[in-house]
Amino acid sequence: MTSRVGVLALQGDVPEHRAILEAVTGRGTVVDVRYPRDLDGVQALALPGGESTTLSRLLDETGLREPLRERIRDGMGVLATCAGLILVAESLEPSPHGRDPVPLGLLHARVRRNDYGRQADSFEAPLAIRGMSGGDFTAVFIRAPKILSVGPGVEVLGEISGSPVIVRQGSIWGLTFHPEIGEDRRLHQWFLKESGVVSSRDL
Ligand code: GLN
Repeated sequence: MTSRVGVLALQGDVPEHRAILEAVTGRGTVVDVRYPRDLDGVQALALPGGESTTLSRLLDETGLREPLRERIRDGMGVLATCAGLILVAESLEPSPHGRDPVPLGLLHARVRRNDYGRQADSFEAPLAIRGMSGGDFTAVFIRAPKILSVGPGVEVLGEISGSPVIVRQGSIWGLTFHPEIGEDRRLHQWFLKESGVVSSRDL
């Protein structure tokens, strides 16, 4: 069976992730995941950045929450970026304004939303990522969350100012930045290789 690659397509940076995933796999067949049936056969899924409270509500409205949680728990590869990271986290620090998303509770990490301030405080920074060759990755942070702590079994692959910004717990990858912005495909390539979708020979 050919393995399918998906993008959670409820809201947020969907086209950007889809374009990179299609470029890496060489197939124009990355599937948009909007309903539970769309998860059939999907072996690796990007959870894009966007607005996590909205995404959380849409997971409930579409009926995706439980099927998605089950597939991730069963080992489907997940590239969870920014709001996507918030969604997979084990716990969130409650925000002062009240309206918080309900996370899936799968990645052993505690996360605080909007840690770096407002939209205008978005920034980019060169990031050394452990296990990735080819030099620093330009990491773009947009109203980014902060990973406050991680549990056992979570590898920290990169840090900025002492805080993890990219972590991995087996098949679950969590990033506080946006790897879909820019021309660098290395993170998507690595994720798809580790998820068994492409081989080194394909890259
Ligand atoms: N601030 C957003 C949230 O908390 C996440 C930002 C992003 O995904 N770029 O949902």
